[in-house]
Amino acid sequence: LPSLLPEPPEARVTRDADCLFCKIAGGEIPADVVRENEHTLAFRDISPQAPTHVLVVPRDHHRDVASLAAAAPGTLAELVRTAAAVAADEGIEAYRLVFNTGEQAGQSVFHVHGHVLGGRAMTWPPG
Ligand code: C5P
Repeated sequence: LPSLLPEPPEARVTRDADCLFCKIAGGEIPADVVRENEHTLAFRDISPQAPTHVLVVPRDHHRDVASLAAAAPGTLAELVRTAAAVAADEGIEAYRLVFNTGEQAGQSVFHVHGHVLGGRAMTWPPG
């Protein structure tokens, strides 16, 4: 099983040539971008699971949220601020911010992304 511990910062690359979200961040693959700044990008999920479903990602490649926290905590904080700004832009009162971490938790793209989900009542526990 792959380790759930963050990658050592010296093992990371800034960009992964095979990574879908690196390609979106680099403008090689189009996306419906709703916000962007120097370090982060927010774009609509291609398969929305709620009236608002936006992904917030760092421009740099990090495998998951724990790796991002270890290597660039300021960027993680910026991602969370971006998620709040997206929710405000969308005019939603509440939102869920989800970082699926690891395959069994539902992570399918291994470039960290927060799902900003809102615009409908959410249930708990999640599936
Ligand atoms: O948490 P997980 O890794 O499964 O989330 C990946 C998300 O990326 C999915 O919600 C999927 O719909 C989305 N996606 C996308 N654009 C793509 C490929 C995947 O928005 N081209």
